[in-house]
Amino acid sequence: MILRNCRIALLAGCLVLAVCGGALAASLTIHAPEEARQGTAVRVRVVIDEQLPQIAFTWLGKNIVAPTVADGQNRIAEALLPVPVNAEKDMVVQASAGTLTGKATVRVLKVKWPEQQISVKKTFVNPPKEAMKRIDGERKKSAETLRRVTPERYWRGTFLRPVPGVVTSAFGGRRMFNGELRSYHRGVDLRGAQGTPIKAMADGKVAIAQNMYFAGNTVYIDHGQGVISSYAHMSRLDVKPGEMVKAGQQIGLVGATGRVTGPHLHLGVNILGVAVDPLSLVPKQ
Ligand SMILES: [Zn+2]
Repeated sequence: MILRNCRIALLAGCLVLAVCGGALAASLTIHAPEEARQGTAVRVRVVIDEQLPQIAFTWLGKNIVAPTVADGQNRIAEALLPVPVNAEKDMVVQASAGTLTGKATVRVLKVKWPEQQISVKKTFVNPPKEAMKRIDGERKKSAETLRRVTPERYWRGTFLRPVPGVVTSAFGGRRMFNGELRSYHRGVDLRGAQGTPIKAMADGKVAIAQNMYFAGNTVYIDHGQGVISSYAHMSRLDVKPGEMVKAGQQIGLVGATGRVTGPHLHLGVNILGVAVDPLSLVPKQ
């Protein structure tokens, strides 16, 4: 049978766009949420009915090539994609495999970000000159790691909450350190007593495990395909760079090292270099 038309159907909560290749009824279907809040991760699933090993996703002008896995007669691939905190317009995800292509639009929901006043020791607001070289080196290393797009995909399924504590400082808040606007909060602070075990959010490879000037004892885990989680202010590091970790594995303990006012876990997730709310990857409790 020859199918030349493209069909668009709206199914329960999912925009499904089927694009037919023009030959035998080959199709590529994108399942993406209709809408997403600024600063969250979007999970996109693509189903194809051809036996192709990979699907290329395009988002924010960047590409990820995701391996497909068998699902009955079809093959599927998944990607996690970031909605930047300052995204203004609807965002489009494109997918292609062989000659099949498709796209879906995600409506961006604006968020009113809170303002957060924080008091810390003066040396952390305006660090002493002798600390600047160290801080610059750590910034570079951090930025380079967060931009990484490792071709392997280590993560699968949902992500888990690394400590049980509640949110004490939300993602995205505009941060005023001793009255000076410094940045926005590129992570979420979770309550945790000193010494509480911290678990890896998903499978991955430890990219950084070291002490940093602002973040204190810090671990970065590369979950593959551009997804990196980070854990800061720890009292103890239980992993080393290069080590593979499993979801739920203990990577260290909650502490109060670096620029902090008390013990807690600062948790970050970056996707394709863009910071998103880490809890947007964790199922609601
Ligand atoms: Zn924080």
